[in-house]
Amino acid sequence: VLENLKKIVSDFLRGKEPYEIAVENFVKELQKTLLRADVNVKLVLELTKNIRERALKERPPPYISKQEWFIKIVYDELSSLFGGDIKPQVFPVKTPYIIMLVGVQGSGKTTTAAKIAYFYKRYGYRPCLICTDTYRPAAYEQLYQLSKQIDVPFCGDPKSSDPIDIAKKCLSYCINNNTNIIIIDTAGRHGYGEEEYLLKEMQDIAKAVNPDEVMLIIDASIGQKAYDLALRFHSATPIGSIVITKLDGTAKGGGALSAVAATKAIIKFIGTGEKIPELEVFDPRRFVGRILGLGDLPTLIDKLKSIERSSDLEKRLTKAIATGKISLVDLYLQIQTMRKLGPLSKILQLIPGLSLLPVDDKQLKISEEKMDKWLAIINSMTYEELRNPNIIDKSRINRIAIGSGTTADDVKELLKYYELVNTMIKNMKRRYGLLRKLGIDL
Ligand code: GDP
Ligand code: MG
Repeated sequence: VLENLKKIVSDFLRGKEPYEIAVENFVKELQKTLLRADVNVKLVLELTKNIRERALKERPPPYISKQEWFIKIVYDELSSLFGGDIKPQVFPVKTPYIIMLVGVQGSGKTTTAAKIAYFYKRYGYRPCLICTDTYRPAAYEQLYQLSKQIDVPFCGDPKSSDPIDIAKKCLSYCINNNTNIIIIDTAGRHGYGEEEYLLKEMQDIAKAVNPDEVMLIIDASIGQKAYDLALRFHSATPIGSIVITKLDGTAKGGGALSAVAATKAIIKFIGTGEKIPELEVFDPRRFVGRILGLGDLPTLIDKLKSIERSSDLEKRLTKAIATGKISLVDLYLQIQTMRKLGPLSKILQLIPGLSLLPVDDKQLKISEEKMDKWLAIINSMTYEELRNPNIIDKSRINRIAIGSGTTADDVKELLKYYELVNTMIKNMKRRYGLLRKLGIDL
């Protein structure tokens, strides 16, 4: 269902209607699609309200069309619907690292256990799989077969009916076998609406094995019902993360993802198929980029990237102007951005208020060729030199020149330019202070 968005986006960018009408049509289609994907009505209304407001208020930067900027707004707002800028931390902070999987029966725990083991194995970890499901006789065999398929150590006991005992014994088995990511699959025998039992069971096993992370496995087809489950889980365990499975097989995936994101729980992985490699780290922005089909619009992507880079530069420049000091790293970013977006005065125009500050572009103008050289030079400097350019003496200049494939004169010229920019920034700070005294807030 969410795949529809690709078409809506490309229709919008190709469309001939006046901007306001096109926006209104887009918003209607977006709403329809999200509701069909089982996204909660309130979330949908909030989202579209934000999109409409921003679409009316925001002026696109000079090198971007209104239509393109609108897609950027949609991209931002949808990304925050699915969790925002969060990039889940999937690599363990310590080893051995114990992950315990919980969830209702059929949600995909056993499959996901093997998928996760395979994921970590590919990154050079040594995973170990444990089956503590004593309810379904076939559970042992299922995980055993999967472990053979991916060649990962496996432990369980088909004769025992005591999951806690199995968990403890297998834990030492895994540790003795020199593995460093231990993945415990559990039974999860309760159905929907019985979260309490699920959480109780989780707590019992957790007490015995003391996991570093408890992962709740949620089947995407429950759609926005995932909200209650995730909310209770999130408040019951501070070491919880969530995996949403079967996103390939349901129209309700958008509902499940947005519902879980709304609880502020962390979605670490998504399952996108029955096969073992079909597991992905969940990155909201990447996910949204994909459903909007931005990958098929390379020029737009390129522009959006340079906006992101320039917004980093904006922050740095704003700070530089407030403190009256600019670093070589700032200068590096500035040169990089200037290559894409043109002169500094134009970049400053993008920063609200700062366009009031006069910049002498003639003095700051540099050729493309020089920009390339200077970027190489800054790349060849040590951290110490970047922090404190005053220490760059003759012998350092020679070393940097050799390292960057330039000449000592090139390095000196860059350092002079750096001085010049620093003086300019100092002047800007003075003006900035003056304007503030006059009550003009930048
Ligand atoms: P458990 O009872 O929680 O251990 O669930 P299982 O791991 O046994 O999975 C139940 C069913 O869901 C199996 O048929 C799996 O192949 C299937 N399954 C699990 N994850 C995915 C997924 O991401 N996509 C699809 N299409 N099927 C999945
Ligand atoms: Mg299972």
